[in-house]
Amino acid sequence: MQAHAGEVPEYLARLEETHAELVPLADDVAEFRATLRGDLHTHSDWSDGGSPIREMAEAAIGLGHEYMALTDHSPRLTVANGLTAERLERQLDVVAELNEELRPFRLLTGIECDIHLDGTLDQTDELLGRLDVVVASVHSDLRAESAAMTERMLAAVANPHTDVLGHCTGRLLVPREQREGRRQRPRPESAFDAEAVFSACVEHGTAVEINSRPERLDPPLRLLALAVELGCSFAIDTDAHAPGQLDWQGNGCERAVETGVDPDRVVNTWSADELLEWTAG
Ligand SMILES: [Zn+2]
Ligand SMILES: [Zn+2]
Repeated sequence: MQAHAGEVPEYLARLEETHAELVPLADDVAEFRATLRGDLHTHSDWSDGGSPIREMAEAAIGLGHEYMALTDHSPRLTVANGLTAERLERQLDVVAELNEELRPFRLLTGIECDIHLDGTLDQTDELLGRLDVVVASVHSDLRAESAAMTERMLAAVANPHTDVLGHCTGRLLVPREQREGRRQRPRPESAFDAEAVFSACVEHGTAVEINSRPERLDPPLRLLALAVELGCSFAIDTDAHAPGQLDWQGNGCERAVETGVDPDRVVNTWSADELLEWTAG
């Protein structure tokens, strides 16, 4: 009744006051978010996203983004209809055509590449070298023991093709629905030596992703704070699988503000040219 009358409900006002210290100022978050110029982790219906590439790009344009990297899954992730080398080649042609139409918006080529058990990446070297943005993520054997997971991640982070380390702990905070009525249960963080992995990210110029999906919010705040302390760069991404999800960057910005991330260290606050110079390096 209070909300309907246009008032802030007493109960909510009390909660906000009690927890004011824990909640970053919305203005700060909005200001941070305004510095983002694009998104480096998105999916289309070529892999497990729900929408055509064009619809994703148009939604990004609607949000005011200057660029968006299309990062559909790699071949090994068959459950997500990962792209073979041949399909990725074809996608590059489609992206090139769309770029002609959508200028000055830039649709960047990319991949969310599986990290194999031995730390190698799940796509040919030649193709990885041609893509604008490579997000490397662990999607299998998430319960491996810490030493093995650390080695695996260190190898991927050191790979010269890798630009961004995707959702580093793999945690799922809430269950999620999948196709054909399958339901994925929540899962804890993978175990790995975060200090070693984040230090390697600094050494090799790999950005740590701040994944904005509400069921991921990865890395957890304590690891994000550690990455900040070690001097990492970041990419605040949505990992959107539908156009509306491109609007989730506020989640990541909230966590960036909370842990004192400097916007200059967030690679998707850079212009497309600066970004591409960095990913090519
Ligand atoms: Zn992923
Ligand atoms: Zn993804």
